[in-house]
Formats: sequence, C-alpha cells, structure tokens
Amino acid sequence: MTARLLDPAFSYRDQDLHAEDVKIADVAQAVGTPFYLYSTASMARQYRRLHDSLSGLDALICYAIKANSNQAVIATMKELGAGADVVSQGELLRALAAGVPASRIVFAGVGKRPEEMRLGLEKGILQFNVESWPELDALEQEAQALGLIAPVALRINPDVDAKTHAKITTGTAENKFGVTIAQAREIAAAIKGRKHLRLEALAMHIGSQLVDMTPYNSAFERMAALARELQADGHALRRLDVGGGLGIDYGKGQGPADDQVEVYAEMVRRHFADFKLPLVLEPGRYMIGNAGLMVSQVVYIKKGENKQFAILDSAMNDLIRPTLYDAHHSLVPLRQEDARKAQAYDLVGPVCETGDTFAQSAELVGLEAGDLVAFQSAGAYSAVMASTYNSRRLVPEVLVKGASWAQVRARQSFEELIAQDKLPSWL
Ligand SMILES: *Cc1c(COP(=O)(O)O)cnc(C)c1O
Repeated sequence: MTARLLDPAFSYRDQDLHAEDVKIADVAQAVGTPFYLYSTASMARQYRRLHDSLSGLDALICYAIKANSNQAVIATMKELGAGADVVSQGELLRALAAGVPASRIVFAGVGKRPEEMRLGLEKGILQFNVESWPELDALEQEAQALGLIAPVALRINPDVDAKTHAKITTGTAENKFGVTIAQAREIAAAIKGRKHLRLEALAMHIGSQLVDMTPYNSAFERMAALARELQADGHALRRLDVGGGLGIDYGKGQGPADDQVEVYAEMVRRHFADFKLPLVLEPGRYMIGNAGLMVSQVVYIKKGENKQFAILDSAMNDLIRPTLYDAHHSLVPLRQEDARKAQAYDLVGPVCETGDTFAQSAELVGLEAGDLVAFQSAGAYSAVMASTYNSRRLVPEVLVKGASWAQVRARQSFEELIAQDKLPSWL
C-alpha cells in the first residue's frame, strides 16, 4: 500500500518513483539527502489551467514568490507568462534578478519600509498594495522625494473568514491586513488630493489554502461593490487585484475537488468581468505546492513500547509546516516494495524537540533503515521557511524538466554556515 501520488508529474515506473522522466533515486545518489525537488511540468500545468480558466479576461497572474523564491522557480514562472507578487525588498530584488519586468511586479505586505518603497518606485513596479494610512503617507514622501507618482492599490480587508488555518487567515477584522471598506472610501478621497499618489486599483487577499470557495464569493462581492462606489465617486480604477489563496490537495481527507480552480475562475468572472478592467491574481501555493517533494532517507527504525519511530535525516528545520500549521504531508517511498506490510510510524527528525514530528501514527508501507522516501506537497512554503536550527545546513533544491534535472541550489557547506558568524575583537 503506497499513498496516493498527488501530482501527475510523479509516477512509479518499474516501481521506482519518477519526477517526469527522471528517476528520483538517481538524483538522491548524486546530491545526497535531504533535498527538495520541483517539477517544471507540474508548474506549467497549474499555470495553464488557471490561465485557461480565465480565458477572455485580461488577467495577469503574479506568482506570489514567498511560496518558493528560488531563482529557477521564479524564472520558470516568468517563462510561463507570470509576473510576481513580492512582500519585501529581498523578494523584489529576487524577482528582478530572475528577469521579471518591473511592470509585472506587485508589492504587497503590511510593513513596507521607506527604503523598500524607494526601490520599487525607482524600478517602476506595477503597484504598491497599500494597507494603512501611515503606509500611504510614507509612500507619498518617497514618491515626492523622487519626483514620481506612486501607483497605489488599496488592499481592503473584506472581513470574510477564509475558513482556513488561523495562522494563514488574513481577511477578517481581527487580522492585521488591509483597510476596512469604510476606510477605503476615505483614503481614496484623500489620494485624489495628493500629487505624488495615484489610486489605480483595489486589492484583497483573504488567506491561504482555501479549499472552500464560498469565502471568495463574499469577499469578491464586497470588493466589487466598493469598486463601483469608487467609480461613482469619480475614481478611475485601472485594474482589480483579487489576491491569491487557492488551496491544493495535501492528500488527507477532503482535498479541493479537481474542478475547484474552474469554480474559482467562474467567481472571478461573475464578479469582475463587467468592469472590463485588467485583473491581477496573486497565487502562490496553487502554482507550486504539489510540484515539490522533499526527499529524505530513513536513518533508524526505533521501536518504542507502544509505537515505532521512523527517524529521518530531514527535520523540522527543513520542513516546518507540520509543526507550525499542523500540516499533513503524505510520505511515499522512492521504491515500491510489494512484499512489505503496512505499519504505523511516527515520522520524526533528529532535532532535539518533540515538535520535530512530521506525522504521528502514519500508516505506511513497511520502512527500513536506508530507505529513500519523499514528502509530497513540499513545493510551497517549505524550502523558503527552512532554517539552520541545530546547525543543520540548508538543503539542495533540484529542478526537473523532462529527462533533465539540475541542482538549482547547492547544499550549504559547514564552512559557509560557520563563516556567517564573526568573533568580536575581545575573543
Ligand atoms: C501569501 C500571499 C499570497 C499568496 O498566497 P497563496 O495562498 O500562496 O496563494 C498572495 N497575496 C498576498 C498579499 C500574500 O501575502
């Protein structure tokens, strides 16, 4: 019994797990474990499916690079036709370095500092998603200093519960994100009187990993109503930004139905097509979540009194989502061994914390020390959230395309890790 493969880019051929036409065990042999692996075909399929479901609309898909900001991933998305959604100066620089034109970059985030705004203004990005009065003032100051007009998208908080995990819910009045609908009209009016600001868009983003599309319906309705009010007030909106948040199937219980993206696209169409304005979307997880695996090796099988533990060479520092979000990442072997019987394991890493647990009592095909295994759905919010806790090195990332693969980030060396620290003069 092997867990279901969650993405068609992955398949067993002669019982060996392949990513497209690459045998993953060969990659493991070459780069060692643990490592992340991403499929280009999967990213392309996700992009095209979303893109095609929006056909007839003038929609720019700005990939939210915080989900996975490897240069090779951003460049792949760019080649597919995507722009970028960034939330920091570092992400803005990454997007530009990967060749994304500034005119296709959206800058979101609640705490943009003046120097971050300056960079965006100098580069001529598409829009700043502004989330508060003081941020608006800071943006105006920077634009004035540069003698430019800052393109503003007001991020509204529609006060709709996305019904996702508390730590990734962003669109209720309890959250730090966006301005209320009431404030939005007031801010829009104020922008009119400011020479160095131009209100170009409304934006929203209500949360991540939405698998129920109904919260989108309510949020879109509110944003569309506000957009109409603003237009009636004489504001010439140039585009509408509907955010990201589309969920993926993590393989546990009810994942989003396969046609979810079309349901979502229909909602976008229903609420916004009439405006005849260009649309911006900011998907992150949807674009790459199931394109990624984290490949590890079983170090030991440890039998406890009531449980047995599969101790892996990857840990919470490599993949924090299970302990941070109670996230489920299903584990599959790189080689199917039909003769082995299913057993229950706690999947753990070597870090000195009980939180270093990927899964409890996971029913898996029998594991043995030395086996190679892969966590699925590890393309988004995985490598980017890694740390060097326990002085464990950042692990490699590998990109597959057809029968080719390349290491797109090397394993950090211990020398690099230690050289980041500097001794003061007195030691
Ligand atoms: C994180 C984020 C996204 C992407 O969210 P996903 O759930 O990965 O699609 C989009 N827009 C903003 C403003 C974000 O903060």
